[in-house]
Amino acid sequence: MSTGLVVPILLGALTWSLAEFALHDWVLHGMRGRGVASREHLKHHAKPDYFAPTLHKLASAAVVTLVMLPLAVLLAGPAPGVAYTASFVATYFAYEIAHRRAHTHAPRTAYGLWMRKHHFHHHFRAPLRNYGITSPVWDFVFRTLELPDVVSIPQRFAVSAVGWLVDEHGSLRPEYAGHFRLVGRMPIEAEQSQCDRDAAFANLPPSA
Ligand SMILES: [Zn+2]
Ligand SMILES: [Zn+2]
Repeated sequence: MSTGLVVPILLGALTWSLAEFALHDWVLHGMRGRGVASREHLKHHAKPDYFAPTLHKLASAAVVTLVMLPLAVLLAGPAPGVAYTASFVATYFAYEIAHRRAHTHAPRTAYGLWMRKHHFHHHFRAPLRNYGITSPVWDFVFRTLELPDVVSIPQRFAVSAVGWLVDEHGSLRPEYAGHFRLVGRMPIEAEQSQCDRDAAFANLPPSA
């Protein structure tokens, strides 16, 4: 790889990182369920084991590539333009995988644990904080960073949507004590999922 491509590759990743923050704040939450992207995201908050269809994401990535690539080539030249766009799209896919794995798989590294605490605080306690998923940088810049030492998760969500966090009895696995705590109890009412949906679409944390 030519060293001349290092800068466009770094800039592509940096641009995605900012887009990850800005889209999550201004579009996914800011639009309050208007438009398909915001609606799909707030459905993910109401039911954190729900993820928007992969086809939607691939289609969005294709549209962004078709717009970004000619502009980047025009501004920076063929090789840097392609490198910038490829880096932006690759970092986007890495983010998609990291976000999904945060929900579905236990952390294997200190960074993985940090990312899950940071994102679950956003999900379960403060939907208008921690918009970055893979990095705290933009939340720090825009003053939306918030990370308690111990992140509270309603027990019903831990059991239904964060399986790696609990044992077969629905209790917090001992290795995560000190990082997470389960709050509330398993609901009796069938209306709970409607309440969770109402809270998500009002950008409010779910009740315990
Ligand atoms: Zn999530
Ligand atoms: Zn969100």
